[in-house]
Amino acid sequence: MLHKKDKPLHQDTNDQIYRIEGMDCSSCAASLEKHMANLPSVQKVQVHFSTGKMKIAHSLPPESIQKEIKKAGYTGQLLTGQKSLPSTSTAKGNVAALLAGLFIACGYILSHTGLSQFTTDIFYGLAIVISGAKPAKSAYYALKSRSLDMNVLMAIAAIGAAILGEWLEGASIVWLFAIGNILQNKSIDKTRSSIRDLMDLTPPQAWLKTARGLVQQSIEAIKVGETIVVKPGERIPLDGTILNGESSVNQAPITGESVPVDKKEGDAVYAGTVNESGALEVKVISSANDTTLSRIIHLVEEAQEKKAKSQAFVDRFAAIYTPIVFLLAIFTMIIPPLLNVGSRNEWLYKGLELLVIACPCALVISTPVAIVSAIGNAAKKGILIKGGTALETAGKLNVVAFDKTGTLTKGKPTVCSVNVLAEVAEKDLLSIARTIEEQSKHPIAKAIIEHAEKRNIIGLKGEAYQAIPGKGATATINGIDYFAGNEKLFAEMNLSLQNVKVLFEEFQQEGHTVVLIGTRTKILGLIAVSDQVRESSAYALKRLKEIGMAEIVMLTGDNEGTAKKIAKEALVNRYFAELLPEDKVAKINQLRKDGTVVGMVGDGINDAPALATADLGIAMGGAGTDTAIETADIVLMADHLEKLPHAIQLSRKAMTIIKQNIWFSLITKLTALALIYPNYLTLWIAVLSDTGAALIVILNSMRLLRFKA
Ligand code: ADP
Ligand code: MG
Repeated sequence: MLHKKDKPLHQDTNDQIYRIEGMDCSSCAASLEKHMANLPSVQKVQVHFSTGKMKIAHSLPPESIQKEIKKAGYTGQLLTGQKSLPSTSTAKGNVAALLAGLFIACGYILSHTGLSQFTTDIFYGLAIVISGAKPAKSAYYALKSRSLDMNVLMAIAAIGAAILGEWLEGASIVWLFAIGNILQNKSIDKTRSSIRDLMDLTPPQAWLKTARGLVQQSIEAIKVGETIVVKPGERIPLDGTILNGESSVNQAPITGESVPVDKKEGDAVYAGTVNESGALEVKVISSANDTTLSRIIHLVEEAQEKKAKSQAFVDRFAAIYTPIVFLLAIFTMIIPPLLNVGSRNEWLYKGLELLVIACPCALVISTPVAIVSAIGNAAKKGILIKGGTALETAGKLNVVAFDKTGTLTKGKPTVCSVNVLAEVAEKDLLSIARTIEEQSKHPIAKAIIEHAEKRNIIGLKGEAYQAIPGKGATATINGIDYFAGNEKLFAEMNLSLQNVKVLFEEFQQEGHTVVLIGTRTKILGLIAVSDQVRESSAYALKRLKEIGMAEIVMLTGDNEGTAKKIAKEALVNRYFAELLPEDKVAKINQLRKDGTVVGMVGDGINDAPALATADLGIAMGGAGTDTAIETADIVLMADHLEKLPHAIQLSRKAMTIIKQNIWFSLITKLTALALIYPNYLTLWIAVLSDTGAALIVILNSMRLLRFKA
């Protein structure tokens, strides 16, 4: 106990992660967690059944941790870095189950040859010992840490059957339990490994460029800032920027897009993606365990452990159900015999049946396995779903709102016209505009700077730079305040827009965004920029309508004319233009009224408040920006909307499967309960209904791994 005080609580990042094998039911995970938590040098421990992982903060050597895991009846492996380890074989368990099965079969055949019952019971007894050893061990440790898991219930039932002289029954329940667990483990391991595949995508070594030429180095030894060479056909080992070379890169592991993207000098490349054609010289910008891919994997794993709302119901149910049925079992075994009702053995047998069905195994795993599968499926397609709740909400969406700039449109506007309206040279107007925009992060600012740059027009010395959200930007040059922005900005300063009106409307009709340049007293000129709708936007929005989205809305700070044109091109139902950032939030709230579930899609950079306000925030372009990954509930890694319909359909499917699982496990349990009293149930059927139902629930959830929209 002393250790707990003098060792500070570890941070999450210092936690060790072990992969646990042999857990058959989430109650086993709970037992193991309790067992580990009771150790004096363990500060914090979490065991997740659905991912098969244990997170632990402790001050022991890994061997002692492994020993303790072993004691509780499982095997544990310390995971180092992001590399996955080969699955340890569960061959021992398989052999035991096979042997036990043989003994049962022998005993059964021999019992028909007139051999004494004592001899056949020996065979059954051996079967119980062989396949019951592992659950018995786990049961012992579960009881020691005061938890009532499946192993405990099963052990009591087997011992009880033996006491009743029902050796065959005892042997078959233990054997069925073992077989059921093997099958469950096998299938759930497939779900757990859905993410492990992603980890294996980064090559362990890279070609480091040194003074002596290319040297092969392990990626862990390569530092940020060093230069590596990626040959054609190789996977890119680390995140970086291309210094030299051109190639097409398949970014499917990150973005889910299988069409290769052309990359040239200055472009970013990500670890795990495939360099298809040319040799690339890349400047490394991330260490091996901080690549975009490893961050995605980390986020996905965290998401898989986050509980969904439906899980809360299941947990509450399980928390009452097990103790009630357990008590009912005790009463059944004790009270009627005391009152001399019926035969004593019959009541004992009924009590044992109750014990077997006291663990709502299938129910407990009905939600988490489905969530792990769905999130795993999504991750492989470049969709990051950040937990069960996000999945649930996505399944219920009926209105989706989109930001215009950068979301529906490419977000890379270009200047298409510069018009001077006062006695300044066009060159000077652009120079002023460039100065104002120099500090702005708005896509429009980039367009103007790029345009000036192309014509070798430099910026001036400015000060008091400021962004005016939703309106424009300002800077002071030579003591005069200059502004670049929309009509709202200038109207607020009581400037007459009379002389620009005609031009203004002309550009707007064509869907251009007009940026006015001026001082507090005079408009100097007008720069028209235009942005194109992405080809994929119209397709994605069409699919959303097809899958039954009630309404698709566009929110934009841009002017009415541009909004109208873009809305038409992108197939939006309704649009709201000239919104300030706070108006977007208000609009989302307005849409959320009367129970509609609203999703907001944005680029996650300047739409953070609206994303946070919506029931579901969806950010795109996650591969490029960390802010997007952090603020949203769902992140589309690619820079377009194509995957959104799939994400929504997958979520709906997940919800359907979870509902099926919950109902199925409730009904099997209740049926088993109902069958006890008319004496229709036998112990082995009870076990079968239990492990069988759990297996069916797992298999049903696994359909999500292969779900295609
Ligand atoms: P949206 O992303 O929907 O275009 P914003 O709030 O980002 O909405 O911008 C709204 C409008 O404000 C833009 O259409 C533009 O007219 C004006 N604006 C914002 N920032 C700038 C800027 N740096 N330079 C010029 N105009 C700007
Ligand atoms: Mg925007």
